[in-house]
Amino acid sequence: RFALEDKTIVITGGARGLGLSFATALAEAGANIAAIDLDDSPPSEFGKLQALGVEAKYYAANVQDYDGLRNTIERIPEEFGSIDGCIPAAGIMRDKPFLEHTAKDINDVMGVNVVGVMYTVQHCAAQMVKQKTGGNIVCISSSAGHHGCAPMTCAAYVASKHAVLGLVKQVAGELAQHGIRCNSISPGTMRTDMLKQIFEGTPGREQLLNSGSMLKRVGEPDELHGAMLYLMSDASSYMTGNDIFVNGGKL
Ligand code: NAD
Repeated sequence: RFALEDKTIVITGGARGLGLSFATALAEAGANIAAIDLDDSPPSEFGKLQALGVEAKYYAANVQDYDGLRNTIERIPEEFGSIDGCIPAAGIMRDKPFLEHTAKDINDVMGVNVVGVMYTVQHCAAQMVKQKTGGNIVCISSSAGHHGCAPMTCAAYVASKHAVLGLVKQVAGELAQHGIRCNSISPGTMRTDMLKQIFEGTPGREQLLNSGSMLKRVGEPDELHGAMLYLMSDASSYMTGNDIFVNGGKL
């Protein structure tokens, strides 16, 4: 029931961090990967996906560009045969007090984390509906989407991650009739480039963040793989409109 052979999964933010890590786990489970990110060319790790014997292609696109993203996503079923899964993992964070957020900070964060996720989910779901083969959407919210992100200061990010949870609930209800499920994962603090910037900016931040979970450490990207394989496969066939917390026991 965890099988993903011959499924094609679209992953935004697929050039690094959690997106690339999900791509690896899903390719190991037999899925074909269509990764989308801003970089002109694929990351060097991308060759390892192809070496697993699945199809893996990289597409340069900005999730904030509605038409450009739609054109990219429409190429994927032409090149792979179908779109069976969608992971809108592209995301950004601005760590500064709310009163210091500029209009650009707010628009950038909401533009990628909410608008970009809506564009991605809509374009992928449109293909799934057209195919009449159902599908699976797994969005990435965050602990911040439930609890806020203290001791960090990231109000726009927190608002964006709450929005993702709302989107998942509504979209799941509307797409259920097409055999499409939509869920999310809410990771705690995971070791990626996003976090590196935050650690580098403030001495002692890692220790402070570690103390905020029962396991007293940040998570590694591969510690989300189990939840992703569950949600992306038929193992979770009775689950939709819902969220899985993987956060080391956030306090
Ligand atoms: P990351 O910075 O390592 O990777 C994010 C990727 O998104 C990058 O490759 C970047 O180029 C891409 N991206 C950004 N803007 C884009 C755009 N406009 N169009 C296309 N691609 C774009 O971050 P990450 O930690 O891997 O985060 C992935 C997702 O997980 C994000 O939604 C993030 O909010 C969420 N998340 C991360 C953590 C964490 O602690 N790292 C915790 C909870 C949730």
